[in-house]
Formats: sequence, C-alpha cells, structure tokens
Amino acid sequence: MGKIERKVVLKKDVKDSILSYCKMKHPSEGILILRGKSKKGTITVDGLVIPPFSYSDQTFAGFPQSFLPFDLSYVGIAHSHPSGSASPSVTDMHNFFGLVAIIVQSPYEKDEDIFAWDSAGNALPIIFE
Ligand SMILES: [Zn+2]
Repeated sequence: MGKIERKVVLKKDVKDSILSYCKMKHPSEGILILRGKSKKGTITVDGLVIPPFSYSDQTFAGFPQSFLPFDLSYVGIAHSHPSGSASPSVTDMHNFFGLVAIIVQSPYEKDEDIFAWDSAGNALPIIFE
C-alpha cells in the first residue's frame, strides 16, 4: 500500500531514434542522455541528447558526468549492448545516472530489445507511446 509503481513511457520517435543510433554505433556501444520528466513514478522520455566527450568501445560506453550541465530534464541514460544481453553490468550500475537506465540489446530492431532498469537494478516496465 502506498508503494509507487514506477514505469517508463517512451515516445515512438524517441524509441526510433535510439534504435537507429544503436545500429549506427554497432559494433561499439552507443550512449545517449534521456530527456523528459518524472511525475508520480512515471518517467516520460521525450527527447535525447548526445553526451559531450562520450567514448565507447565494444564493451563500454560512457562520458565524464562532470561535463554535464545541471539539468533537471535529464532523467537517465540509454546505451546499447552489442553483445545482445540487456542486463546492466557492474560498470553500468557504478555509472548510473538519473532515474532510469535504458539498455538496448543487439539487433536493436523491436520493442523487445529495449529494457529499463532503476538504480537498484530492478527492471522497470516500458510503455511505448
Ligand atoms: Zn552496459
């Protein structure tokens, strides 16, 4: 009782942009900042930002968070897993940013390739709009 069920709402154009970006970066990981808002446990993602000074290879994608402006519209990060596993790595959890981590597994084709995790490593449901 009183527990807020958290979920992620992903707009279609944002989802398509994430999938395209992941494909473009393959076989390296791609990483994007998620913009949106959080209200009553619902994290709505309606925009993307390419992080400054990002770096990536086949097993890791990141960026120095100290270069980010303080911006309350940054709700999390999306990154790709070219290996095809959508579980967050230990490194992912150590570099958790914002409220949600979206991980897209290869081949980045459909809704089922997209997963959302909170900072405790719990899977969050995604609603595609
Ligand atoms: Zn990862």
